[in-house]
Amino acid sequence: MRRSLLYQLYPLYAIAILVAVGTLILAASHVFREAFYAEKESELRNSVTLAANALGAYPLDRRDDAQALVARLSRDTVNRLTLIAPGGTVLADSHADPRAMENHGRRAEVREALAERFGTDVRISATTGENSMYVATVVRDETGSPVAVARIAASMARIDARSQNVVQALAIAGAIVVVTTALFAGLVIARLHRPLRAIRMGADRYAQGDLSHRIALHRAPAEVVQIAGTLNAMAGELSETIGRITTQRNELEAVLGAMIEGVIVVADDRTIRSLNEAAAAMFGVSREELDPRATILGTLRNTELDAVAEEVMATGAPVETTVTLYRKGAISLQVHGTALASDSGAGVLLVLNDITRLKRLEDVRRDFVANVSHELKTPITTILGFVETLREGALHEPASADRFLAIAHSNAERLSLIVEDLLSLSRLESLEAEAPVEECSVHDIVDKAVESCIRSAEQNRITVERGHSGPVAVNVNRTLVEQALINLVNNAIKFSPEGSVVRIDTAVRGGELTIAVKDRGHGIPRRDLPRIFERFYRVDQARSRALGGTGLGLAIVKHIAIAHRGEVTVESVEGRGSTFTLRMPARRQDAE
Ligand code: ADP
Repeated sequence: MRRSLLYQLYPLYAIAILVAVGTLILAASHVFREAFYAEKESELRNSVTLAANALGAYPLDRRDDAQALVARLSRDTVNRLTLIAPGGTVLADSHADPRAMENHGRRAEVREALAERFGTDVRISATTGENSMYVATVVRDETGSPVAVARIAASMARIDARSQNVVQALAIAGAIVVVTTALFAGLVIARLHRPLRAIRMGADRYAQGDLSHRIALHRAPAEVVQIAGTLNAMAGELSETIGRITTQRNELEAVLGAMIEGVIVVADDRTIRSLNEAAAAMFGVSREELDPRATILGTLRNTELDAVAEEVMATGAPVETTVTLYRKGAISLQVHGTALASDSGAGVLLVLNDITRLKRLEDVRRDFVANVSHELKTPITTILGFVETLREGALHEPASADRFLAIAHSNAERLSLIVEDLLSLSRLESLEAEAPVEECSVHDIVDKAVESCIRSAEQNRITVERGHSGPVAVNVNRTLVEQALINLVNNAIKFSPEGSVVRIDTAVRGGELTIAVKDRGHGIPRRDLPRIFERFYRVDQARSRALGGTGLGLAIVKHIAIAHRGEVTVESVEGRGSTFTLRMPARRQDAE
């Protein structure tokens, strides 16, 4: 982890203080030492001048006299006095035997004194082994001519000790300064560090999306408090804006989600920016699993829809067309494509309407009209044909006229039958599954139905048998149920061979009325079974027509069942016979 700025700064700051204080101590100690040395030098100059003046007053020819004089002059002083001949020979010395001493002509202070009257040097003394200051001056006789060099040597031990003391005092003072400054700096840094850390942690939480957090500071500098205030205000505003946007987005989502129409927004790079639940269901994709790079071609796999998006993008003009989708059968979609221009770029809005049912209804309607026209056309053409023949003279041939009129009459009857069936079908449809019911007896219904079919049964030598179980009172629309039963029994008689048996079994059980009509006729091929309840559907067109069927009988039965919230089913084995079963509630719906 990286160290914080403050902790990076602190050591630098400490080093700067240390260097400053250190330099100050070094400079001060140097200045003090220089001052002490200068003072000592001037003191030694005075002393050596005094000594030189005194020595100049005496003749120094004899070494012993000189030695005595030097001893005398330096009595009771700590300083060492040396008298040196201009050639460098030591004439006398207060602390050593001059004869044992080497030639001093090359000593720095001696040479300097001979050249410039005074000479000074500081060095470790060869004689005493101590750090010493040497100050020399020329000794002149009465005439003023130089006769020797007088030199005073003083130990610098005390001076050095003094300047050592000064350095020590300065070092202690410096250390105090360093420690105090470091402490204060630490305090200042700590005071800055805490609020800055609070700000950083606050900013971290904002970055993680927690905009409800507020940065609280205690005893922080004004600038830092201002920054925290600005951050808090920013978080508040951001949270409000996000809240507003979220609400708007949720509302939009809810609207789009509730729509029956599919809505797809395609970006200009052809990726799907969004699609609603209805659109996802149409294409069988999951919205949650939708890839951000999903495209119409890649994900929805529909080239027609892709072409619509492309056209809108290219022209900018709205497009309306129908697109077919193949998923468990064909689905027809009406597509409206509109160009979209928003801040986030251009795109296309596709609104999809599932018109499969509408289209199917339209197809059914068209087929129905075609079928009706076809069904009506045959008898009408026949009637017109015979009427024409009659008008052209056949009217005057009684035998033919009678036959032609009979044919025209039977066709007119057929027409009327078809129209009647169509009317009852349309009446049934307009009931919308709510036929008015009344209490009646199952026996009465079956009696009535058998009565109306008995003639054709007798003609075909067919026996109608019947059976019943359960209570007999039911709540149904008597006329409609009779009609349904007549249609079923009529069919059973029509499609059965002579001499066979048709059975009507009724039962009332658990509030349900069941009517089963069973024949031993030629049955219905398996592939036709799903369609026989459609209008005008016949297994064998010619045969059905010849038997006087309109092709609407079973459609009417189905609608009667629906009008009672019931159903009609068929079981049939080709060559063995068929059983049609009608099931419906036997009690009034609202009585339950
Ligand atoms: P239709 O007026 O032709 O009888 P329906 O709607 O009553 O019209 O019947 C449709 C077709 O179903 C008939 O044409 C016939 O082919 C078949 N069908 C109906 N009932 C039976 C049955 N009991 N046995 C065999 N075929 C039947």
